[in-house]
Amino acid sequence: MAKASGIAFAALLQLRDEVIHIMKDMPAWQNEDVEKLAEIPLGVLRKNATQRHGVTRWKKGANLNNLTIFDVEVIDLHPALLTNEWNAYAAFVLHHEYIHALGWRAHDSIFRSLESSWPGNSAAGDGPKFTETLRLSKAKWLWVCNTCDKSFPRQKRGNRKYKCRKCSTILIDKKIEA
Ligand SMILES: [Zn+2]
Ligand SMILES: [Zn+2]
Repeated sequence: MAKASGIAFAALLQLRDEVIHIMKDMPAWQNEDVEKLAEIPLGVLRKNATQRHGVTRWKKGANLNNLTIFDVEVIDLHPALLTNEWNAYAAFVLHHEYIHALGWRAHDSIFRSLESSWPGNSAAGDGPKFTETLRLSKAKWLWVCNTCDKSFPRQKRGNRKYKCRKCSTILIDKKIEA
């Protein structure tokens, strides 16, 4: 985990209050003391993380078969989520981490149904968009499909080892000019 800057930290606290406020009205959480979630420390992931948008870290020695809010060391969110543009998706991600914090460690079917009870559930679809935005901001190469005319931003060359998912054409490297 990285330390959140003052601005990021203020944004995290605002997001936390927003998410807990919404959870209080959700039928799924009527039997949980969701106010307690406010006690969990929040932090940010390293800026160069692209695959993970949020992480719940458990304390060392926590009993993985009986996890509670008090076993959470910290919840880290991607710092790029802490902007107005990504607010709806950020709330969805923090709700996801709060489900873990309430004791659901695995992404099983119960977890997924709790996750999809989030009222801004359409935000789930923003995940791939967010990943692509992160990749684009760091990309040095485009992997180009000349059949579909699509390109995929990446940090490394593909060296003609990858095929387009849609049409199986070999993707060609094209350097992004700085
Ligand atoms: Zn998860
Ligand atoms: Zn293609």
